[in-house]
Amino acid sequence: LKPQEHNASMTSAGSELSDGKGGIKRKIAVMTSGGDSPGMNSAVRAVVRAGIYYGCDVYAVYEGYEGLLQGGDLLRKMEWQDVRGWLSEGGTLIGTARCMGFKERKGRKQAAANLITQGIDALVVCGGDGSLTGADLFRSEWPSLVEELVNDGVFTAERVEPYRNLKIVGLVGSIDNDMSGTDSTIGAYSALERICEMVDYIDATAKSHSRAFVVEVMGRHCGWLALMAGIATGADYIFIPERAAPAGEWQAELKKVCQAHRDKGRRNNTVIVAEGALDNNLKSITAEEVKDALVDLGLDTKITTLGHVQRGGTAVAHDRWLATLQGVDAVKAILEMTPETPSPLIGILENKIIRVPLMESVKLTKSVATAIESQDFDKAISLRDTEFIELYENFLSTTVEDDGSERLPENERLNVAIVHVGAPSAALNAATRAATLYCLSRGHTPSAILNGFSGLIQTGEVKELSWIDVENWHNLGGSEIGTNRSVASSDMGSIAYHFQKNKFDGLIILGGFEGFKSLKELRDARAQYPIFNIPMVLIPSTVSNNVPGTEYSLGVDTCLNALVNYTDAIKQSASASRRRVFVVEVQGGHSGYIASFTGLVTGAVSVYTPEDEIDLKSIREDLALLKENFRHDQGETRNGKLLIRNEQASSIYTTQLLSDIIAEASDNKFGSRTAIPGHVQQGGVPSSRDRVTGSRYAVKCVKFIEAWNKKNSDEQNEDFKILRFKYVNGVKEYTLHDEDASAAIIAVNGSHISFKPIAHLWEEETNVELRKGQEIHWEEFNKIGDILSGRLNLRKEV
Ligand code: ATP
Repeated sequence: LKPQEHNASMTSAGSELSDGKGGIKRKIAVMTSGGDSPGMNSAVRAVVRAGIYYGCDVYAVYEGYEGLLQGGDLLRKMEWQDVRGWLSEGGTLIGTARCMGFKERKGRKQAAANLITQGIDALVVCGGDGSLTGADLFRSEWPSLVEELVNDGVFTAERVEPYRNLKIVGLVGSIDNDMSGTDSTIGAYSALERICEMVDYIDATAKSHSRAFVVEVMGRHCGWLALMAGIATGADYIFIPERAAPAGEWQAELKKVCQAHRDKGRRNNTVIVAEGALDNNLKSITAEEVKDALVDLGLDTKITTLGHVQRGGTAVAHDRWLATLQGVDAVKAILEMTPETPSPLIGILENKIIRVPLMESVKLTKSVATAIESQDFDKAISLRDTEFIELYENFLSTTVEDDGSERLPENERLNVAIVHVGAPSAALNAATRAATLYCLSRGHTPSAILNGFSGLIQTGEVKELSWIDVENWHNLGGSEIGTNRSVASSDMGSIAYHFQKNKFDGLIILGGFEGFKSLKELRDARAQYPIFNIPMVLIPSTVSNNVPGTEYSLGVDTCLNALVNYTDAIKQSASASRRRVFVVEVQGGHSGYIASFTGLVTGAVSVYTPEDEIDLKSIREDLALLKENFRHDQGETRNGKLLIRNEQASSIYTTQLLSDIIAEASDNKFGSRTAIPGHVQQGGVPSSRDRVTGSRYAVKCVKFIEAWNKKNSDEQNEDFKILRFKYVNGVKEYTLHDEDASAAIIAVNGSHISFKPIAHLWEEETNVELRKGQEIHWEEFNKIGDILSGRLNLRKEV
């Protein structure tokens, strides 16, 4: 699906958009429909507040389409403070329902009458494909429904004149992640997180008793949850609707794979079954049947059906920011739409919020179900997004087909080194595991450089990694191979010696700025030590997200989840003591990314970052906003107020000083405390998103190394957009430019993933002194945070 063209900036709209109807204040309604999903409340909050910011009246439709049909009290005008604290609430607070009446034209006519009565002609619908189909049908029928209402005498022609067209924008709220045109839907990562937590718990008991577990997860028509859970939990096998298992034969393959893993030393087996799993005769594959096959293998097997636990709980950080950014864009889309604009669906592609035509997305989504029904499974899987297909292939090669069938010819097998550099961030082990398993399936030899570059220099310790070494690393925090802050230049000669000795053909570095710097140093040392003329690649991994040239680092998602849990707990404590402000100090070094995003996903009043100077004026503004907030709460404050301060935001305005100033200037209206989560931010169990992303990047990096080593490959490699090198008399020969491209980082920029040469990044995009990139790629999100906290509104008023 091609994203729709629109004004690229998410916040540039300003108030000029709000007055598009000749002086009549625009009225927008927002609703949630279909099955609930975590994050829907964040979406509603964002629509309500962005709508108000842009000068509109915003209404909430309670109970899904039922609320549109009944109108009255189910169609309520929302004020700014009505959505306070909604980021940390699970489910949907405005309710949802399945409504048969809306499927009838009569019902939709009644809904149109209720909307016109309130003067509403724009609707943001957050739901699944059914809800969005209904919404689009409503839009296409609207002019004729209005005409009928005039003919019936319900309204005069004059009254309906400003409401001749209905505007619809779709947000996808669904835990299944089954909608085409978007990489993820609101709620999917929260459900995945819940699944992974549960399977992690099960793993412990399964290992103790040497058992097998069959875990049934949701997904009637979509295997996204099962596939991602399979990757994130290190499952042995998965069953998904898009890849029907061969009837009568799947049992044998399942047994073969589980037995092979047992033979390698595994003490437990995990098989994930999507509730819509099928064989190629379209017969359901049940957890019970899977269990029977495993029992037949002689395994003590149990079934766990996760059920509604997957829908429950509060939203993870990812769903909170996704829903927030999409909610703001939905308002902007409504304000920009003309009667001719096709209804948009707000999606996300890699890291970029996009708009795609709603009905085309729904049509494509439905065509997956049709392809499954007509047993065209190749088509079904091809209709899923790129990430799905890529990860499915990775799962096969690292888990199911790790029997040697994918091995390369002997002369193409490589020695691949993996090293961790700098402070640990979550998913270092998960990425190392995936790189190792992929290497093994291809016949390569993966080796870990133990304890970073200083470990190599001091002891020369390199450990060849085997299947059983890494088998349970998918959910381990920290670094199993050890990490160290020292950079490669500590002793380049010694490192070159060990590279030579171990005959490395490629290097994967997992790390933050030190890793980035080491890669640059190794690349620069090529002239002196030709052994470094091997492909070398960095997977940015740091909670600070300060690696230049990319918008995403492994560990950031886990860190944000830790901060979301931490601040939710703090808010609860603050609500018990009433009228309390917390100044929370977060990590990030000179990069304000984590602070900004924490502000966005926790609804902080203000965020202090190194990028924005703190001065007395901004502190005064925050105090005014705090007073305004507490004035509205009238003593029944259920939520503490948060200010987020990056650890290096200012050498003068320390966390303690800010808290003291706030307490002192509060006129005894509220108190203030500091809270410093510290290393909690780097540790713990990696989030499901970090595990999956880590494994995806790791496999890509091994492929990058393979591509560079591929003999006689003088074709440009389209996959990696890298330049070629040549073999001359069996010896690799690089041009200077080629050499640059073969030392790269894997980077995400908007909707693109690419390998970017370190030499270029260092020269053009690095602020060496501040250890971060030149560009503040999240700048716009700061403004969105300020809009939704009310900070910008207050400024407008001032
Ligand atoms: P989920 O992914 O959780 O199933 P969904 O939005 O697909 O979410 P549905 O039950 O299919 O859930 O639809 C929710 C509501 O949307 C229905 O109860 C109905 O009111 C409305 N709706 C669904 N399909 C249509 C349609 N074709 N025409 C009009 N309204 C519809």
